[in-house]
Amino acid sequence: MAVRDGVVAWLGDDSVGRAQFPDADSVDLDGAFVAPAFVDSHVHLTATGLQLTGLDLSAATSREQCLRVIADHVAANPGQPVWGHGWDDSLWPGGQTLTTADIDAVAGQHPAYLSRIDVHSAVASTALRNRVSGLLAVAGFDPQLPLSAQAHHLVRAEARRLLTARQRDDARRAALDAAAAAGIVAVHECAGPQIGGVEDWNELRCTDDGVEVVGYWGEAVSTADQARALIETTGARGLAGDLFVDGALGSHTAWLLDPYADAAGCRGNTYLDTDAIAAHLFACTEAGITAGFHVIGDGAVTAVVDALEQTVERFGVPAVARCGHRLEHLEMVSAQQAAHLGEWGITASVQPMFDAVWGGDDGMYASRLGTHRAATLNPFAPLASAGVRLALGSDSPVTAMDPWAWVRAASHHQTPGSAISVRAAFGAATRGAWRAGGIRDGVTGTLVPGAPASYAVWDTADLDVSAPADSVARWSTDPRSRVPALPNLDPDRPLPRCRRSVHRGVVLHG
Ligand SMILES: [Zn+2]
Repeated sequence: MAVRDGVVAWLGDDSVGRAQFPDADSVDLDGAFVAPAFVDSHVHLTATGLQLTGLDLSAATSREQCLRVIADHVAANPGQPVWGHGWDDSLWPGGQTLTTADIDAVAGQHPAYLSRIDVHSAVASTALRNRVSGLLAVAGFDPQLPLSAQAHHLVRAEARRLLTARQRDDARRAALDAAAAAGIVAVHECAGPQIGGVEDWNELRCTDDGVEVVGYWGEAVSTADQARALIETTGARGLAGDLFVDGALGSHTAWLLDPYADAAGCRGNTYLDTDAIAAHLFACTEAGITAGFHVIGDGAVTAVVDALEQTVERFGVPAVARCGHRLEHLEMVSAQQAAHLGEWGITASVQPMFDAVWGGDDGMYASRLGTHRAATLNPFAPLASAGVRLALGSDSPVTAMDPWAWVRAASHHQTPGSAISVRAAFGAATRGAWRAGGIRDGVTGTLVPGAPASYAVWDTADLDVSAPADSVARWSTDPRSRVPALPNLDPDRPLPRCRRSVHRGVVLHG
């Protein structure tokens, strides 16, 4: 492969290349594997970096261990406010969650904010709660249990105010470096008023670290003029991303049609109703702007599909499809809804690690929903075969920016029939992700002459052409069919290790 001015100039046989480019600098790959670099279609960079540079609770295997890690952090950082992330009580024995009293016992007088793994609820110390006026009166408040909904947003905003500009900047750079080291050269930052706020997003826009940051802004509008103005002031690629229709299953805040199996009468939360969703879609479609939503539960998905149907009736399929509207997570979608979304040109921005971590008969999804409903979650193969375009991502810090792990999870789905092939998953984490971000030139995310030279170099064992065992092969595995090989991602194999990542000809890592 020859690269000139950040673009793939030529591709072919080694001897021909050397003859054609005699003066070129050449890199001996020593048997390494080169592939288009990855894109992460859903991240939160500052929160990711705060976990990388600070208090990471994701490895805690019990409530007691989690509290010990927090206590050690407090002892090592005396006098500092505490920002931590990643505890997951669904994986702990005993099923006991964290309480305000637990946190006060280890954090003392320090304001402490500790988000649950899904970032849809958090425990907060009394010292932090006391800084927020009116907290007791809003939705999602509880004196002892983790805060959700508006109460969570208020304590999160207050905890954010306690971070210094230096802490935020260090965090962002750590997150971008981690992306580059994982073979990721572009990320879709899902920003919004309740996530990091406008200050965080504006600081991130000014952070030049090599990894390309495409921003989505999650704020609802109701007129085309409002949509245009918000795109103008934020510089976002769309009014999409984490515009919350609902919450998450782990926090019992995903909006369900039927109650949770483990919380009598609870159907989760509704943050945007069908009318508000339709108003946002009308406004964005009229302005030709990408709209989108965070949508997980079947109640939320139904509201979004109904609102999209109204949008199609009003503007027609071509106008809707042109906007490239996208749905984040889209975990509980029926075959009929998938067929509509495919017809309307909608992209599903999905996180395969959700199934790897929470799927299966014994997983968190099965406890929340029962095994029957849980087995319908994250139906990647049915979505793809309905024509819904997939883009893969991590929702980091919810799951890691570890793209081969996503590809493995998507191709080894815990529900038979929901897996896609390694090749399809790889495409959804490269070309498909660029397309989800509005790049529709047909070459970005591939390595052909004329494409941006955005690639990663991997140390990997054997390459092969594989298809999921539980479905018909979607292409020939005969070598003569010229289907390119990819790393073998069987669960017992080590994942490829990134040696170098390059974006538009510029080395970002290695
Ligand atoms: Zn998110």
